[in-house]
Amino acid sequence: MHPNDLPAQSVTLQTPITVAEGDGIGPEIMQATLRILDAAGARLAIQTVEIGERSYLSGVKTGMPEQAWASLRETRVFLKAPITTPRGGGYKSLNVTTRKALGLYANVRPCVAYAPFVPTRHPAMDVVVVRENEEDLYAGIEHRQTHDVVQCLKLITRPGCERIVRYAFEYARRHGRKKVTCMIKDNIMKLTDGLFRQVFDEVGAQYSDLERDTMIIDIGAAMLADQPELFDVIVTPNLYGDILSDITAQIAGSVGMAGSANIGDQCAMFEAIHGSAPDIAGKDVANPSGLLHGAILMLLHIGQNEVAERIHNAWLSTIERGIHTRDIHDPETSHKLVGTRSFADEVIRRL
Ligand code: NAD
Repeated sequence: MHPNDLPAQSVTLQTPITVAEGDGIGPEIMQATLRILDAAGARLAIQTVEIGERSYLSGVKTGMPEQAWASLRETRVFLKAPITTPRGGGYKSLNVTTRKALGLYANVRPCVAYAPFVPTRHPAMDVVVVRENEEDLYAGIEHRQTHDVVQCLKLITRPGCERIVRYAFEYARRHGRKKVTCMIKDNIMKLTDGLFRQVFDEVGAQYSDLERDTMIIDIGAAMLADQPELFDVIVTPNLYGDILSDITAQIAGSVGMAGSANIGDQCAMFEAIHGSAPDIAGKDVANPSGLLHGAILMLLHIGQNEVAERIHNAWLSTIERGIHTRDIHDPETSHKLVGTRSFADEVIRRL
């Protein structure tokens, strides 16, 4: 059969994805997000898996059952709500494990201000943090030397640096960005951060159409918090990127607003940048926007651009009408305070 003779339904084929509802506020924001995706006509064949605390309590010591890995091997696209990571002991961070196991080397975190609708002191900010996602102090190489001395290894490799730095420059080019800034601490960690910087200069030299600069992370973070509008794309090792992207999300309005894409050659995972927020879990007050933005990045990744655009426009018009969850509610700019579920209803009304 010639491709043009395929029945019409082939155009509406559903993309298989794996979904995990997560812990804390996870189930609330995931349900809100899935309702919006469904109402917007996203073509998805959803496989739901249980990972994290509930899985651990049911006896899976890693918090990640084999059924979840099997689903991910099949779908290669993961929409994940935040997972609680036990502090001190317990299972290893599932976020770190998943990123490593699926080879998700680039964590892309766009943080943009929605002024004047969401209060921020930085109305012109529009920053994308591209964080290396597998190496650095998050490589998980930690051990006890003596009772009183523990050690964590900072792992930085040339192939790892090359991949993430090239990804950042390619991303900047693809998205019409002007500048890539590298943030490191190579005055102290001369070998590890020194290698990251060296690769940044080598790879960056191949992108003469883009500006580039390098900043020491401490003063760079201070400037980012003070004048985020001076930054465009930032590329940085794992730990710095984790911290910087929470700062950028918070100063853009709320940590509850930003989504992130974790990209690898074979698989991709999409999530909110924030955690499981146990302090507000089960209260119907969480902002689902971060996970919704993760889902929008996912729709773009799987080629459902028109659905992504429809959802983003409806979300924007909801925010612009001053319909706000508690974290971004402000007497001056908000008209209506809504909970997680009603926020989703308002977005759906505007699709
Ligand atoms: P957090 O991001 O969960 O919460 C920090 C603060 O922001 C809290 O006051 C919380 O109420 C608020 N907040 C977060 N998301 C919000 C939202 N959507 N709407 C409104 N307010 C929101 O950080 P934490 O408390 O340090 O971490 C809690 C748990 O989440 C920990 O176990 C941590 O390991 C885990 N965590 C998971 C991920 C992930 O799954 N990707 C990321 C970060 C932290």
